[in-house]
Amino acid sequence: MDYLIIAEAYKKIEATTKRLEMTEYLVDLLKKTPPNVISKVIYLTQGKLYPDFVGIEMGIAEKLAIRALMWASGSNESSIQSELLKSGDIGKTAETFLTKRKQVTFFTKPLTVERVYETLDKLAKTSGSGAVDTKLSLISGLLTDATSIEAKWLIRTVTGNLRLGIADMTVLDALAIAYGGGKETREKIERAYNISSDLGRVAAVVAQQGIEGIEKFQVHVGEPIRPMLAERLGVPEEILGKYYGSCLAEYKYDGERVQAHKKNDHVLLFSRRLENISKQYPDVVELIRTQIDAQEAILEAECVAIDLESGDMRPFQELMHRRRKYGIETAITKYPISLFSFDVLYVDGADLTQQPFPKRRQILEKIIKPNIRLKPASQQLIKTSQQLEDFFEKAIEEGCEGLMCKSVNPDSVYQAGNRGWLWIKYKRDYKSEMTDTVDLVVVGAFHGRGKRVGAYGALLLATYNPEKDQFETVTKCGTGFTDKDLCQLYEMLQKHIVPRKNSRVQSTLEADVWFEPAVVLEILGAEVTLSPIHMTALDIVRRGSGMAIRFPRFTGKYRNDKSPQDATTAKEIVAMYRGQLRKIGETLP
Ligand code: ATP
Repeated sequence: MDYLIIAEAYKKIEATTKRLEMTEYLVDLLKKTPPNVISKVIYLTQGKLYPDFVGIEMGIAEKLAIRALMWASGSNESSIQSELLKSGDIGKTAETFLTKRKQVTFFTKPLTVERVYETLDKLAKTSGSGAVDTKLSLISGLLTDATSIEAKWLIRTVTGNLRLGIADMTVLDALAIAYGGGKETREKIERAYNISSDLGRVAAVVAQQGIEGIEKFQVHVGEPIRPMLAERLGVPEEILGKYYGSCLAEYKYDGERVQAHKKNDHVLLFSRRLENISKQYPDVVELIRTQIDAQEAILEAECVAIDLESGDMRPFQELMHRRRKYGIETAITKYPISLFSFDVLYVDGADLTQQPFPKRRQILEKIIKPNIRLKPASQQLIKTSQQLEDFFEKAIEEGCEGLMCKSVNPDSVYQAGNRGWLWIKYKRDYKSEMTDTVDLVVVGAFHGRGKRVGAYGALLLATYNPEKDQFETVTKCGTGFTDKDLCQLYEMLQKHIVPRKNSRVQSTLEADVWFEPAVVLEILGAEVTLSPIHMTALDIVRRGSGMAIRFPRFTGKYRNDKSPQDATTAKEIVAMYRGQLRKIGETLP
């Protein structure tokens, strides 16, 4: 296929801002394209060589493009530079200089799409020493044989300045019209795109096999599925109303979405934006490789920062340390993660995207060999708003953002690439920071895991309630302790161990070791929340709920100067909670 056909179509597309006209020109172009090169034409039209998830980019620097232009046009650098300064467009500059090129003494052969694509592919894959010269000769070779209009688009393509504004949706429209038999087939073609993220492959299938081919289009391990997204509601009754009275609610973990593709021992990870992030998370790759009982699988999970010793989830921000190219091994140990899997889309030859959610979950539970680093998302069947509220509070307290409520109806398929009501997120609309520290009494402890064996992994902390003269739990804290702190605390607490919970301690949690209230520590948390577990200020703000401190961290300060009765009181915690709400303009009942 002649590259000139593409160049002329681009010219028309560039001249319009109307999507309908743009689609028409694209349809014309696609009709002139032989089916065996259609995927290449589609990629080129979007300024690419492959679908995004492959991660191969052309990205040639403007400087190199200018050198190629000098070579092909026989002009000098300063005249090209000054023209470029005037037009501000490297493509137009190329067109101008090739129009007035000095002489066309060589024998030129017309450019074909195949040759352009292969050359650009070589260009993108050239690296190492001598790469600049190789690239220069590849571009110059193309420009030498190019007409001026072809040169304009070639240069724009290699420098990443194509900018025709052809969105994925426009390509889908054009494919439906050119090969699907009409716009009404667009939905089927779009589904194929949503489960493959590869417009080139979709185009090749519809051009070669028509809509029947598209109907048989399957999920492929290695091709990311575009993510299903949720709508949002803030009232439990409304959520249940959408689901005819019952739904499955899951913890909404606050981490990074990961789509894992497993083929035997080979694992690929894609981000929410479908970028390949396998290198960033070798530990996740290993978990999927060893803990998923299937030859082939595609599943989705939230990757969450955790504190290994206490098992507590850490705020999303800690994952930022994993966004790096170097020093990954150190980052893995310093910022460990856990995976909570919430969906499975494919297992051993079976495309599960059209199965209802409860069925997918059943399969997910079957293929996961759970361990402390990989589990299915915590889930509960919900029938009343009270159940939803209680589960929500539990989720918040454990470090989650809220709940994802999911339809259990027969039509609860995986809607790839769509935001819809089959999933509803239920988050708090506010986020606030605890600016002040609190002083809390150690009333219990949990044994450590890993390197903390012989010390405590986490401490159960309480506020003081002077009216009732009791200590009410408010948080479990396993973060902020240095190794020295851990030893020191262990020793310090030994003399306060009691065989069972002290009668002045109010706790629903069962600690491994109980203490008489004695040691006071300074703690900084992220915020105060309602809690179904902790006993501080029980029934004060809401019937059946206490208050808790989220993401607690020991500041390093032992408040030996305070007696347990001097600790922060339940009243103060309620005041902090009210303060938070005022900050965001809400009031309490
Ligand atoms: P959106 O993804 O809806 O555009 P967003 O990127 O801001 O918006 P949120 O609205 O906070 O994300 O919520 C959706 C995200 O929640 C998902 O993309 C996923 O990463 C995460 N998530 C956590 N737990 C779950 C779960 N149990 N089920 C589905 N998604 C979950």
